[in-house]
Amino acid sequence: MECSKMADSFVTTDVLILGGGPAGIQAANLLRRHNKELTVTLIRPEQHSMIYCAIPYALEGLFPLTTTYKKDAMLTDCGARLIRGKAVAVDFTDRCITLESGGVVTYNKLLIVTGAEPVCPSVPGAGLANIFTVKTQEDAQRIISALTGGNCRDHEVVKCGPEGPKKVVVVGAGAIGMEQATAYRVQGMEVHLVEMQSGVLPQMLDEDMAQPVHDALREAGIHLHVGVSVEEFEGADAVAAVRLSDGSRIELDAGRDFVVMAVGMRPCVDVFQGSDLQLGRDGVVVDAQMRTSIPGVWAAGDCCQFVSGIDGQPIGGKLATNAVPMAKVAALDILGKQAGYPGFFNGAATVVGRLRVGGTGFSERVARQRGFEVYSTFGDTTSRFPMMPGATAVRVKLVVEVGTRRLLGGQVWGSEAVAERVDLLTLALQQKMTVDQLAEFSYSAQPWQTFFPARNAIVEAAQKAAGLV
Ligand SMILES: Cc1cc2nc3c(=O)[nH]c(=O)nc-3n(C[C@H](O)[C@H](O)[C@H](O)COP(=O)(O)OP(=O)(O)OC[C@H]3O[C@@H](n4cnc5c(N)ncnc54)[C@H](O)[C@@H]3O)c2cc1C
Repeated sequence: MECSKMADSFVTTDVLILGGGPAGIQAANLLRRHNKELTVTLIRPEQHSMIYCAIPYALEGLFPLTTTYKKDAMLTDCGARLIRGKAVAVDFTDRCITLESGGVVTYNKLLIVTGAEPVCPSVPGAGLANIFTVKTQEDAQRIISALTGGNCRDHEVVKCGPEGPKKVVVVGAGAIGMEQATAYRVQGMEVHLVEMQSGVLPQMLDEDMAQPVHDALREAGIHLHVGVSVEEFEGADAVAAVRLSDGSRIELDAGRDFVVMAVGMRPCVDVFQGSDLQLGRDGVVVDAQMRTSIPGVWAAGDCCQFVSGIDGQPIGGKLATNAVPMAKVAALDILGKQAGYPGFFNGAATVVGRLRVGGTGFSERVARQRGFEVYSTFGDTTSRFPMMPGATAVRVKLVVEVGTRRLLGGQVWGSEAVAERVDLLTLALQQKMTVDQLAEFSYSAQPWQTFFPARNAIVEAAQKAAGLV
């Protein structure tokens, strides 16, 4: 679609960044830091950019929603221009974008960082009023309004009162769904978490690592329904019952209770449909420099389809920890500097009650689905010297390729230092390490922070995988 050069509002810029999430903000800062002459304009529709990862903790009442708002100064201080608006048409030939307001922005180079939005599956009743998703400021405000009967302003801490909802059903037990379930439980509600796979965190964990997470959820008082899918949301205007595939029904008070859908994300690329921009199932197709199929156009973050750093084949990776480095690579390439993104490793972690849990690379199940012949080993220690107060169990699982003995993935649970162990295993994946090399990993030991010097859970699992113990 052609842009109208007669539009009321007409802006021109060297680099146009379309989207105001972490990818957009980081790219704007990097571009301006390296070249103060460059005019950089960022367009985003929402009032505030947000720290999405912190939304569950605002919902559980740790701090007000406003704490999750990023300051616009993160952009304007570096000299980037911020336009509030939504792109409704893109003309890659004339290099311009039309906004919903009718305004037009022409650019020399374009960085697409339009992110992803929650998927709503086509289950009967999925359009009913009290079904929410979690991503935007409006999503969070809708949930807070339901929790507090509309009696909580953004700068106030969320507290679910006696007149508030009593029950919530969270559909999807990925990290977002589990953090949502925890938040509502902390608010004192009866929480049902429904997951169609046989274990929680199905993208991250194998079943043999998921069991302690199930236990932690149940200990926290969350009703867990695994291996079960939603067949129907029953109700006239709002959900009055959720019917599950095992024949059970969860009854809700349609006037107060609610459902949260956390079943996945889809890339926000509708505005590019029908253009020459190459799109894959998971978003804009990019190369290692984040260049798209159109010269002068880059894309980064959740709106992109990219490949695994382990086997070079497409894989999902909608994480801020992928979006930010991708955006930095795109910005460096726009500046003419050498940079490349090696692919997704998808190191991630979450917290469930007393337990921290995380994973990186391929689980055993995913590795097999992708054609690898694999075996697994475990390492078990405690988080501190066993005689120290607060020492608890730590378990590491390694997924290893038969023959090459290359590490393909790792999973960790424990009460401390889980994300740090996951990051270390990601580094090993990035370095394409074999378990023989990982078995030589030199570690530290201290009574409050680790197990005895004699053993380390990662090294133990690697030694077993290398046949050394
Ligand atoms: C509840 C929750 C918790 C999370 N927790 C974690 C976590 O703990 N760790 C982690 O690594 N990741 C986490 N994530 C994922 C992380 O937030 C995303 O991976 C990250 O935000 C992606 O950044 P992005 O900049 O690519 O896209 P987004 O943050 O989605 O930003 C996209 C931007 O583009 C704008 N946009 C879209 N379409 C248009 C258009 N047509 N015109 C103009 N602007 C447009 C959007 O409005 C938005 O400003 C979480 C996500 C959620 C929802």
